[in-house]
Amino acid sequence: MLKVVGIIGYKNSGKTTLARALARELTSRGHEVAVVKHTSHHLDLPGKDTTTLGEAVGQVGFISLQESGVFWKRPLSLENIIPYLEADIILVEGFKTEKTFPKIVCLRGEPDDRDLFDGLAICAILPPPAPGGAGGGSNPSPSQGVAGGGSNPSPSQGVAGGGSNPSPSQGVAGGGSNPPPAPGGAGGGSNPPPVSGVAGGGSNPPPVSGGAGGGFNPPPAPGGDGGGSNLPLLGQDEVGRIADLVEEKAFKLPNLDCGGCGHETCYDMAREIVAATGSVEDCVSLQPATEVRIDGQPMPMNSFISSIVRNTILGLLSPLKGFKKGKIEISI
Ligand code: SF4
Repeated sequence: MLKVVGIIGYKNSGKTTLARALARELTSRGHEVAVVKHTSHHLDLPGKDTTTLGEAVGQVGFISLQESGVFWKRPLSLENIIPYLEADIILVEGFKTEKTFPKIVCLRGEPDDRDLFDGLAICAILPPPAPGGAGGGSNPSPSQGVAGGGSNPSPSQGVAGGGSNPSPSQGVAGGGSNPPPAPGGAGGGSNPPPVSGVAGGGSNPPPVSGGAGGGFNPPPAPGGDGGGSNLPLLGQDEVGRIADLVEEKAFKLPNLDCGGCGHETCYDMAREIVAATGSVEDCVSLQPATEVRIDGQPMPMNSFISSIVRNTILGLLSPLKGFKKGKIEISI
C-alpha cells in the first residue's frame, strides 16, 4: 500500500529540515522515498531554455545525463503527480489544506499553530532550536522558552518546557503528564488552562529526551472531533521515532469523495483512520479490483495506481450511451 504523510507548519518551523532527515532515515530502512513540495515560487529560472520554451507551450520535458523532468505550466493536483513517482512512501511538504493523508505538524510556538490541526495529525514536532541555543539547564524566567529542560518557574510562552512550570500563560505544549481534557477542550487535567496557548501548562515532569517527549493535546478539528487525543510530541532530532510513526500510520485516500465507504468525503474517512476507528481497507476505491494484462501477463500495480486506472476508465465510459455496471474488458 502506498504510504503518504504530510509535513506541515508555518514558515521557519523546520519542515524542510525534517523532510530531509526523514527521507534519509526511511531510505536507510529500505524504502523507496519521494518528496512532493509545495512552493509559491516559479520553478524555473528566468531566461533558461525550459522557461522560454514554456512561454510557447504548456508542457516542457527535459532530459540530461543526470536528471529528467517535466514542467507543466499549470498547477496539478497531488493525485495527478503521485502516479509519476516510483516510491512506496511519499513525503508531502506543505499542502496544509489537503485532507486525504495523515500529517506531521511542525510547531513554531505561536498561537496560530492551533490552526494546523484538522484531525489528521499523527504527531507534533517541537520548533527548531533558536539561533544561539535553547533548552537545558535552569531558565528562571524565560518569556519565550522553546524547549527548555530544567526548571522554568514562570515562563510566559514556553513551548515545551521540561521541569516544573507552575504558571505558564501561553504554553503551547507541556511535556509530561497531560490527563485527558474535558470534552471539547484542549489540554486540561492537572494542567491549569493556558491563557492563549494551544495546550499545556501545569506540572511538567522532565522531558523524555533532550526537550521533547510527553504528549500534545491538539485543539478540536473543525467539525468537532480530533481534539483531546494525546499526540506524540517529538523533537526535530527524534527522526527514528517519527519514521516509526510514518511506517505505522501513513496512507493515502484517492480524493474521490465517492461515498462508497459510508462517509460523504475522503476527509471524514481519513479522520477515522487517524483516530484508529476506521481502516484504509474500508475505502472501496482502493480495493484492487482492476487488473491490467500485457500480452496475457498481469501488470503489477499498487492499489493507488489501480484505483486511478479504474476510476479514470469509469469516468470516461460512464457518461457514454450504452454504459452499464459490470465487468469491463478493454483490448489495445
Ligand atoms: S470509499 Fe474511498 S474514495 Fe470513496 S469516499 Fe470513502 S475514502 Fe473516499
